[in-house]
Formats: sequence, structure tokens, C-alpha cells
Amino acid sequence: MMDPMTTTLAVANQKGGVAKTTSVASIGAALAELGHSVLLVDLDPQACLTFSLGVDPEDLELSVHHVLTKGVEPGEVILETEDGVDLLPATIELARAEADLLTRTGREHVIKTAIEDLDVDYDWILLDCPPSLGVLTVAALTAATGVLVPLQCETLSHRGVGQLLDTVHDVRRFTNKKLEVWGVLPTLYDGRTTHARTVLETISETYDLEVVEPPIPKTIKFAEAPAAGRSILATSRSSKGAAAYREVAANLVTRSQRKPARPAKRAKKK
Ligand code: ADP
Ligand code: MG
Repeated sequence: MMDPMTTTLAVANQKGGVAKTTSVASIGAALAELGHSVLLVDLDPQACLTFSLGVDPEDLELSVHHVLTKGVEPGEVILETEDGVDLLPATIELARAEADLLTRTGREHVIKTAIEDLDVDYDWILLDCPPSLGVLTVAALTAATGVLVPLQCETLSHRGVGQLLDTVHDVRRFTNKKLEVWGVLPTLYDGRTTHARTVLETISETYDLEVVEPPIPKTIKFAEAPAAGRSILATSRSSKGAAAYREVAANLVTRSQRKPARPAKRAKKK
């Protein structure tokens, strides 16, 4: 079943280490705190999201890999986590999915189809993309309502953005007309430097991208969360980082209520 009220957000950037996984875990926990039902999908074979939510990938018999390539029902794989979100976990086996799917018809639609097969209507589904623009990222963008691009505001961080937006453009053209770019989320942000602010302004102007506020400050607290198997919202409840993600989540809720940029074609007059 596919609930039209579900917002599916792909968190994507082919650069590693820009806080995709941290953002998915933290925004997911923040949305759950606000009373929303949330499913997080780990699409990275490194399974960092799975691990950081307290699940050891080595203990799993079934994972997202089985859903995407072997026709297993997602409901058989989804786990509840202590952070109040549900998780479709990954294991290292997912590394093979990319190759397995390459020769398969309809590969761009495997995640969309898995979501349609869910028997729970989630308010939010957050897709934690791997650090590449391969089959899994394209399938995530094909399933998504919107794409959020975490970005570390450093001098060279914009170099991949154009390529990512090219991929988004192709997805819009061929597999998902409704995909919208929700904007960049500044992460690992050091607001004390004017440099970070300048880089952020340059990127949003160059690519005509909205900036999702507030920037997530760089803080050591984030290093501690994954080992505890909880998001920073639980391990460091009143930290600046947790507060920033709560504010981002509230802004995303507002964004989800916005009408699509391009209105659907008007019905013909009778
Ligand atoms: P990605 O999924 O894009 O590869 P991660 O979310 O795994 O990135 O983050 C990369 C590293 O940066 C992790 O060690 C994470 O704990 C750390 N990190 C993420 N956000 C912050 C932050 N705001 N401040 C400090 N460290 C952070
Ligand atoms: Mg990651």
C-alpha cells in the first residue's frame, strides 16, 4: 500500500563523511519525538546506520538486500529501535546488490516497489544513500518525494554537487517526475569562520539551491552516539547538535506541507 501522505526523503551526496547517516538517524529520532511514524532505510553496504541504531549487522539473517533482490517482504525485515523509529537494516551483503541489480529490468524501481509493499503507513521514510551515484542511489531518488543534500561547507565540497544534480535531473526525466530538491543541509558546520558561510552562500547561489536551516554545528558529541547504539538526541539530549537537528526536523515537517513547485495540469473544462 502506498500512502499519499507519506513523505519519502532521500538523503544523498556521493561524498562520504558529510553526515548523511548521522542526519538520517538524528532527523528520524527528532521526527519520532514529534509524534510522527518513521521508517529509516539503510542503503549503504557499510551498514553504519544499522550499527548506529544498536543493531549488529552480523546478527541479521534478513536485510534490505533480500527485499531489493530476492523479493522478501519488507515487513519481514523491519526492526523496531530504541530511538522510536523503525529500521530496514543493511548488511555487507548489500555490496552485491549493486551488481545483482545492474542486469535486472526495473532496477530503478526496486525501492519504490518495496515501499509500496509496506503494510504500515509511515509519515516519513528516510533513505540513507551510499556514497556513490550508482544503482542504489538512483533507485532511492526514484522512490523519493524529495532529496536532501548534507554538505560540509569546505572549499572543494561543491565539486560533486553538480554531478548529483545531473543525476537528479535524469531521474526526474526518466523515472520520477515528482522528485523535488529540498535543498542542502549544512553539516559539520563551524559558524565561527566566515569561510563556512561564504562557501555555503556560493554553493546555494551557484546551483540555485535552498538551504535547510539551521546548520548542524560540528561537535565532538556526535562521535559518541553510534557506539551507544542511539542517536545524539538520546545520548546528548540537550546538546547544540541535538537542538539543531530538532529544529531541522520541524522545518522539514513545514516543508512537507508545501504544495509541489509545479502544479499538476489543470483538469480540462467541460
Ligand atoms: P556519511 O554517512 O555521509 O558518510 P556520517 O554520518 O557517517 O557521514 O558521518 C561521518 C563522521 O562524522 C562520523 O564519524 C560522524 O560521527 C561524524 N559527524 C557527523 N556529524 C557531525 C557533527 N555535526 N560534528 C562532529 N562530527 C560529526
Ligand atoms: Mg553513511
